[in-house]
Amino acid sequence: MNIIFHGAAHEVGKSCIEIESAGAQYLLDAGVKFIQGGVIYPEFLDRISKVDAVFLSHAHMDHAGALPFFEHKKLDCPIYTTPMTWKIANLLLEDAYHIAQLSKMHPAYKKRDIRRATRDVKNVEYDHEYTTPDGNVRFRYLNAGHIPGSASILLELEGKRILYTADMSSEPTRLMSASTIMQQMIAMTHTWGAPLDVLIVETTYGNREHPPRAETEKRFLTAVRTAHARGGNVLIPAFGVGRAQEILLILAQLPQHIPIYLDGMARKIAQVIIHDDDPYVRARDALKGVMHRVNIATRQTREAIADGRGAVIVSTSGMLQGGPSVFYTERMYTRQDSTIILTGYQVEGTRGRSLWEDRLFYRHGKAFSVSCDVQKFDFSAHYGMSAIHETIEKIPHKKLILQHGDHSALDAVAQYARTHVSSDIYTPYIGDVISV
Ligand SMILES: [Zn+2]
Repeated sequence: MNIIFHGAAHEVGKSCIEIESAGAQYLLDAGVKFIQGGVIYPEFLDRISKVDAVFLSHAHMDHAGALPFFEHKKLDCPIYTTPMTWKIANLLLEDAYHIAQLSKMHPAYKKRDIRRATRDVKNVEYDHEYTTPDGNVRFRYLNAGHIPGSASILLELEGKRILYTADMSSEPTRLMSASTIMQQMIAMTHTWGAPLDVLIVETTYGNREHPPRAETEKRFLTAVRTAHARGGNVLIPAFGVGRAQEILLILAQLPQHIPIYLDGMARKIAQVIIHDDDPYVRARDALKGVMHRVNIATRQTREAIADGRGAVIVSTSGMLQGGPSVFYTERMYTRQDSTIILTGYQVEGTRGRSLWEDRLFYRHGKAFSVSCDVQKFDFSAHYGMSAIHETIEKIPHKKLILQHGDHSALDAVAQYARTHVSSDIYTPYIGDVISV
């Protein structure tokens, strides 16, 4: 069998791994990458004429965004996901901003392709074993702790076992239970009496540790209160899935007189999280409570809130690539009394990254210097460096494939792996084929 990388190879974005086995093609994720002014997708999707099954790890667009694209090509095949993942992915795909962006990527990309993809979705439960209709692949979804519905995927085909961690988080948050992959894989390999044949690991934070969570929360709340006391607005751009709801659970500790607004996709996603029964979401009731306190911003009220004073606004998107957070930034970036607090990893080439690193805000392709205060907190939902190290050291495996990280993060993990594990180590580029 061959494992071929079509994205997230020496980068974060457009995750898509093909497994070619006995004339069949299986895909692990099919994502897109949002860049300044557009979207790119795994190029090989133009060439494929057949897919036998897709295993979707989670709802983020860099993992799920390309699915309607090949539905458009009528490559009907089962798309395996947890129920929560598809509910959220569907919302994200149907979001007007994404549709506009994705149609630019491919003019044929239409709402009906999303509906078509939905028809092919097959729900899977965590920790159950399933088999593809062709009988070739046995697979199991494990809790990845990354966002609601997220999974690491264990596949067995041609008598070989592959674990695709996808995006994973080792720390429990207010919203989510931590990933249990390491303990589960140690137990399973023990039972099998054999190591994994292939371990495919994400390395987003391969060269960095996360600060202790409790400390980050404390510093974040202090920053919000201090910023609010300066009299202007506080904008907190947050990823709509998981992060925004996590931030709201933390902001619930603010005194009642500080008004909290929620805008964008995060509101609908909060409702999905509240009403779904995903076993790894911890704070369903607490989230319900916070949603009662939060003021919902709408297209009609947005302007007055942005131009007013003293509002704490949580809005999507988290990297300022679209959604109302761009609108609020446009109104706030020249206001010295206001603050923008970023809450996670900012991918290279995004507006959020320019805002943070260069204090520049890009509008209609032009850069403007920013005079509001900009801060950033690490609320990452990815394994930090030592959690990655522990994973590759403790889970017995023969081949280690490192992906979903920029060059320096990947290289740092590869270097560590060379001295600490005895497996074959791969850091594939796009198009690279690894034979197993
Ligand atoms: Zn993700």
